[in-house]
Amino acid sequence: MTQPTVLVVSAFEAKLQPILAASTAGALRRAGAAVSAWDADVCPNDLPTGSFDLVLISIPSYEGIDPGAELAAQFKHAGAERVLVFGQYAWLNARRLATIADGVIMDEPEGLTAGLLDYASGRRQATDVPGVLTAGGTPPGGHKRMRRDWQPPARDLFPPIDHYPEHDTRFGLLGNVEATRGCHHKCTYCAVYAAYDVWAVPIDQSVIMADARQLAAQGARHFAFVDAEFFNTRRHALRAMEQVAAELGPCTFELTTRFDHILEFEREIAQMTELGLRVVTSALEFPSNRVLEVFDKGIDVAGIERAIATAKRLGVQLRPTLITFTPWVGLEDLRWLDEFLDQAGIADAVDYTARQTRLLLYKGSPLLGSPWLEGVELIDRGFYYDWKHPDPRVDQLWATRRQEALEAGATRCCVRC
Ligand code: SF4
Repeated sequence: MTQPTVLVVSAFEAKLQPILAASTAGALRRAGAAVSAWDADVCPNDLPTGSFDLVLISIPSYEGIDPGAELAAQFKHAGAERVLVFGQYAWLNARRLATIADGVIMDEPEGLTAGLLDYASGRRQATDVPGVLTAGGTPPGGHKRMRRDWQPPARDLFPPIDHYPEHDTRFGLLGNVEATRGCHHKCTYCAVYAAYDVWAVPIDQSVIMADARQLAAQGARHFAFVDAEFFNTRRHALRAMEQVAAELGPCTFELTTRFDHILEFEREIAQMTELGLRVVTSALEFPSNRVLEVFDKGIDVAGIERAIATAKRLGVQLRPTLITFTPWVGLEDLRWLDEFLDQAGIADAVDYTARQTRLLLYKGSPLLGSPWLEGVELIDRGFYYDWKHPDPRVDQLWATRRQEALEAGATRCCVRC
C-alpha cells in the first residue's frame, strides 16, 4: 500500500514555531503518512515542492482566519484534491470555511488520524471522515471525549526555534510547550470558551516531556506553557513543569492563568517560583465590576487587587492583559484605568498591546445576541463583527493607540485567543 502524502500548513500561530501544526504532523507521521510541513506565516517562501494527497491548514488563532481561508482557496485553485482546515478558529467559522476547503476538522486532529489517512488514500470521502464537517453536512458530535494519539510535535519539519524572533526572550530561547488544550472557564468574550465549551483536553505527560527535550536540544532554556489556562485539570501542567525542571533544569518558566487562580493556587505558584517560574500572564480584563460581570469572571475588582499583590509577594512578574476598549467603558473609565495601574504599581508592565486591545466579536462569540450588546451598533466584517462605541471619542482614542501598537510591532496579547 502506498504511503499517503500529507502537507500540514500553519496559517498563523503567534509567530512561534507552530506547536499545533507540529503536533498534528507528528501524529500523522506516526500513523503512517509521509508528512511535510510549512509555516506559511513566518516562512512564506518555503512551500515544500511536490504534490500531496491531503493538505491540512491549521487556524488556531484569529489572525489565521483570513490567511487560512486564502491558503485553502489557493490550494484548491492549484488543483489540490483534498484540503481540510482545523484549529479553534476554524471550528468557530466552520460553516463558511467548509465552502472554501473540502471540510473542517472539528476536533483535535490527533484523535482522527486513521480517518484522515483513509481520506488521504482515497478510501473515504470527506463526508465520511469522523469529526469532519463538510459544506451542508451535520456538525459531528460527541467527539470531544475521543481517545487521542498524542505524539511529540514534529518540530523537525519546521525551522528551528532560533529562526523565530519571538522565541528570543530575555530569559534565553523560549520553548513553547503545552499541557492541555481548551479551558474549563466560560469568560463570555473568549474564543477558547466558544470553541471548547468549558472542556479541557490533557496531553500525555510523556509527550510533553519528549517535546521539552527536543526543544532543549534546539537550545530552549525558558519554557512557556502556552495553555490557555495553566490550571486546567488543576495539577496536570504543574506536574509537567516539575518534570521539566528536574530533568532539564536549571531553566525558567512562564504560564498563563486567570487572576482568581493566582489567589487559589498561591501555594503552588510559590512552589513553582522555586522551580524557575518567572512570568505569569493573566487577563485582568478591566478594573470595573460591570465589565467583569459582562465577562462572567466570577470575581470583582478587589480580587484583581489581591491577585496583583499576591504575584508581587511571590516574586513573579505579572504580565497583565486587558480588554481596554469595550462598549461598556467610557473616557472617564479609561482615565481611571491609568490611575488604577499606577496605584497597583504595574503601569510599566502594561505594554502597547494591552493599551489598545479591543473587544473582538468573532462569529460565534457568546456575547452576540446577549442583552449586554443591546443598542450597540454592529458592523458585519465577514469573520467578525466590528462595534461602535456610543462616544466617538473612545473609538478615536482606540484608533490612535492601535496605530502606536502597530508601529511598536505589538498587537497580540496572548497565544490562544
Ligand atoms: S479568558 Fe482565559 S480563563 Fe477565560 S475562558 Fe478564555 S482561556 Fe479560559
